[in-house]
Amino acid sequence: MAVGKTFIVEKTCPICEQTFRVVKTRSRKIAVTRRDDDGCTHYVEFNPYYYTVWVCEHCGFAADEKTFTTKITDRHLTILRAVLLTKNIKIPFVEERTLGEAATAFRLALKFQDLIHGKSSKKAKYAHQLAWIYREAGDTTQENEFLAKAADFYEDALMRESFPIGELTDNAVMYVVAAIYWRLGERQKATTYLSKLISDKGVREREPRIHDKARDLWGDIRAAKKK
Ligand SMILES: [Zn+2]
Repeated sequence: MAVGKTFIVEKTCPICEQTFRVVKTRSRKIAVTRRDDDGCTHYVEFNPYYYTVWVCEHCGFAADEKTFTTKITDRHLTILRAVLLTKNIKIPFVEERTLGEAATAFRLALKFQDLIHGKSSKKAKYAHQLAWIYREAGDTTQENEFLAKAADFYEDALMRESFPIGELTDNAVMYVVAAIYWRLGERQKATTYLSKLISDKGVREREPRIHDKARDLWGDIRAAKKK
């Protein structure tokens, strides 16, 4: 149950300009059990990833908080309004999302980013977190499908976007891509990224945490090979 771990706020939708409700999580109140090598955090009883994507209950626009609260360009507004204000997509507000409802929110968010040719780094984040909610639910098929998409988007972001994006450095992304490929059984792709990170003196000096994580994962992969 999500009692005490969430609260509801009202926001104005940039697309339909109506007031809609959002469930926000109190992250301090949620206990962490473990963290996977690709960054997925596991929590006790309650999964905050279910609420990362906000959905407007009136027009169906779905995106993360940052997208909702940052000015959307006029060109993108025109594209999104043309679709959303004519289709009458009704996504009812729920205080507690099921796996299906959370997955729908992520799928819609991905779809709208496709429509406006949004940044791959953003699509990577959506696909990756969607994979995480499937992981927690034990649905490996869907998890792997979205892990593969996330890896593609991250690689595209590495080629096209300038880093850091917020706090996210290109080396951190390379590590995450390696961790994803290792989970997908793509040993060669994983080790290519890891060896790049490990041999880079700049990473060792400026981002020792990434260097150490890369070395640890490299060690795990080598150990698995011997079995
Ligand atoms: Zn709306």
